[in-house]
Amino acid sequence: MLNFVLLIAEWYRQTARNLPWRQTKNPYKIWLSEVILQQTRVEQGMPYYLKFTENFPTVIDLANAEEEIVLKNWQGLGYYSRARNLHAAAKMIRDEYHGDFPYSYKDILKLKGVGEYTAAAVASFAFDLPHAVVDGNVYRVLSRFYDIDTPIDSTEGKKLFYNLANELLLKEDPALFNQAMMEFGAMQCVPVNPDCGNCPVRPECLGYRNGTVSIRPVKAKKTKVTDRHFYYMVFHNDHQLVLKKRGPKDVWQGLYDFPLIESPSGLDEGEYDAVLGISLSQVKKQHKTKHILSHQRIFATFLYLDFLPERTFWKEDWELAEWSELERYPLPRIIERYLKDDLKALD
Ligand code: SF4
Repeated sequence: MLNFVLLIAEWYRQTARNLPWRQTKNPYKIWLSEVILQQTRVEQGMPYYLKFTENFPTVIDLANAEEEIVLKNWQGLGYYSRARNLHAAAKMIRDEYHGDFPYSYKDILKLKGVGEYTAAAVASFAFDLPHAVVDGNVYRVLSRFYDIDTPIDSTEGKKLFYNLANELLLKEDPALFNQAMMEFGAMQCVPVNPDCGNCPVRPECLGYRNGTVSIRPVKAKKTKVTDRHFYYMVFHNDHQLVLKKRGPKDVWQGLYDFPLIESPSGLDEGEYDAVLGISLSQVKKQHKTKHILSHQRIFATFLYLDFLPERTFWKEDWELAEWSELERYPLPRIIERYLKDDLKALD
């Protein structure tokens, strides 16, 4: 067992990528990187890490920023609740800890949006505290190396892998252990086609020996995906367009999209008048696209309306925006893409 850990630590020393958040003990920057990198590849997250550390060099700078500015900096990264939680946690640190990042695992865990995984990462990387990180990479490596078929999303599985990782943890260097395990999962023991041929722990890997690598880890539940049908009314003229700020309890909270009607299933064009309140003859062009989120498939139809609506038609949460000031609005990627590529193509 120890051999496994030492071999992976040695592999890490020789092959680790040189990433900026690994060159610091600053808990704020480490926390930023961990939140940004959840469900995000390093190449995609890197520019965001650099942008955040430049625009908000300290946790106080982040806490003092307007939420819309934080969301704007996050634009394109998805899972926007991460950005809102990041902002709320920064305010907690400013108000409850006088701007000093909490340094115990228990206190880090109390921060908004911080779960066991992030708390263990910050505690070990910034403060060398003995807490094992158990992320998707670690689940995969351990389930394969020990050939464990307990589902990783079951209560039993979570406990089992958590205990195993903490048993293996190098108490004298928890940061090295955690970095090495995560990097090993990200670069060597990858989800599809792991590089078993060049793996330093292959002789002891039970998954490899038993031929079960491709079916580890086991997941009990399939993610339920819901289909949604959005009809966006893109009211605009040469100078202005109508935007709508998205409300709570749905995707993209706090971001801006267009006036929207959601239909439980798709609409026929003949139904536009009755359901949307606009006649087909007013729609100059239509653009259909599909946008995939982790639990939702959004089928969006953009209706190109080259006029501004009558005031009687206007809803409370609609906002008139200048085209020239569009940059300051945080937008979900589907809207950003439509404005950048599709709308331009339609002009
Ligand atoms: S032998 Fe293959 S499955 Fe086993 S730890 Fe190495 S890369 Fe992963």
